[in-house]
Amino acid sequence: MGHKTSRKHAKKTTEAAEAAVLPLDAEEVQVVGEPSMSDLLRVDKGFVLAEVDCESTPGFSGGKSAGTEALALHAPEVGEWQERLFAESRAGSKRALLLVIQGMDTSGKGGIMRHVVGAVDPEGVRTTAFKAPTEQERQHDFLWRIRAALPHAGTVGVFDRSHYEDVLVVRVHELVPQAEWSKRYAQINAFERQVVGSGTEIIKVMLHVSADEQKARLTQRLERPDKHYKWNRADIDERQLWPDYMEAYQVALTKCSTKGAPWHVVPANKKWYARYAVQRLLLDRLEAMAPEWPDMGIDVEAELARFDAS
Ligand code: AMP
Ligand code: MG
Repeated sequence: MGHKTSRKHAKKTTEAAEAAVLPLDAEEVQVVGEPSMSDLLRVDKGFVLAEVDCESTPGFSGGKSAGTEALALHAPEVGEWQERLFAESRAGSKRALLLVIQGMDTSGKGGIMRHVVGAVDPEGVRTTAFKAPTEQERQHDFLWRIRAALPHAGTVGVFDRSHYEDVLVVRVHELVPQAEWSKRYAQINAFERQVVGSGTEIIKVMLHVSADEQKARLTQRLERPDKHYKWNRADIDERQLWPDYMEAYQVALTKCSTKGAPWHVVPANKKWYARYAVQRLLLDRLEAMAPEWPDMGIDVEAELARFDAS
């Protein structure tokens, strides 16, 4: 797989290279049998973002039509698992699932919402798109609005951008002093540990498009009137900062890929693959959580007898 190659090609800036060799608390995972999608895409020790091939399709050997078909085939399963998770919460379970989606402009975050998460009962999902903080949000610490958006028991929460913007755009533009943003990696890890400890499992995904692919997608936004509503003049300015963003991602991915909440980098030049891969990550995790239909303690015989009497 593109990003599983050795570290010797790493020729990043000093800090990115340093971050790449930071000892993560993630243990080396012994993969027995077929590697899972998480095994293939997870950010482990020695990860180098620049080595990921955005065109690759790890864990899927077919092409676009097979990928699209697989996505449609498994779409209902996400909803079925969420229903079990909800049912479990009716019997007192506090478990929930949080999907964090990050990526550069045009990386396909919206498509994940429509094609992967869209299959779940809207009542069971809560999607939050994080924009530049409002006046009110700025009065609080950067995790305040994140805490408020965490999923309730039995539901799936989806973050379209997240607290990671506070070490990405904020770092690239120095929106707060370095002394402040540099502390956030540890704060994020502590926060996520707390979230996981309270029963909310976290899946973190970076949709990774290449700079060339982004250019093609932005160009299409200009050329197609039905895409003009997405046009944002600032996107071109942000594009100039591509290397800075990649460095910020490299550092965030390695510093904050923990055993309890690892990062995954999904090659996203092929939209159909990115959607398939995120669906797989979700389904594998829900299956591992294995929510059960709860015993609600209903005396079925007695209830049926009441019907007869009614
Ligand atoms: P979009 O997702 O394209 O609608 O854009 C949302 C914008 O909000 C992006 O340009 C983000 O970089 C920006 N944004 C999100 N979170 C933050 C944050 N914590 N601080 C500053 N800008 C942010
Ligand atoms: Mg945008």
